Amino acid sequence: MTFKDRLIRMMEGRYGADELFYLLTGLYLLLTIVNIFVHSWVLHIIGLVIFAMAVIRSLSKNIPARSRENALLLRACEKLGIKRKLNAQRPSRDTVNFAYKKCPGCGKTLRLPRNKGKHNTKCPACGEEFSVKIR
Ligand SMILES: [Zn+2]
Repeated sequence: MTFKDRLIRMMEGRYGADELFYLLTGLYLLLTIVNIFVHSWVLHIIGLVIFAMAVIRSLSKNIPARSRENALLLRACEKLGIKRKLNAQRPSRDTVNFAYKKCPGCGKTLRLPRNKGKHNTKCPACGEEFSVKIR
């Protein structure tokens, strides 16, 4: 049994990572970085407690309770006007058939057919004509 199999078996039936997990982990990292400069054992302890909470939550088998906690966070973010950036699912890009290039005129990302070589293209948004190199 490989380490990965063991890890998968260990995480079976457990809650895993969610937005709150990433928030807590991020907070821990932030505190750790701040603590490099301030050397406070209080911050160190707070950071460890936050990180322990994140880990304990992700290993929890009480999935409904953990989901409720996460839902509270998401609702709070919504009220504060924070969009779901933490787990924002970008539309998956088809990098096989298309190349994505930024327009130098307006910065919009254009999806171009993946034809190798140098081409001239025109941005549909601002009308800027420019050349792109597709590899
Ligand atoms: Zn443009």
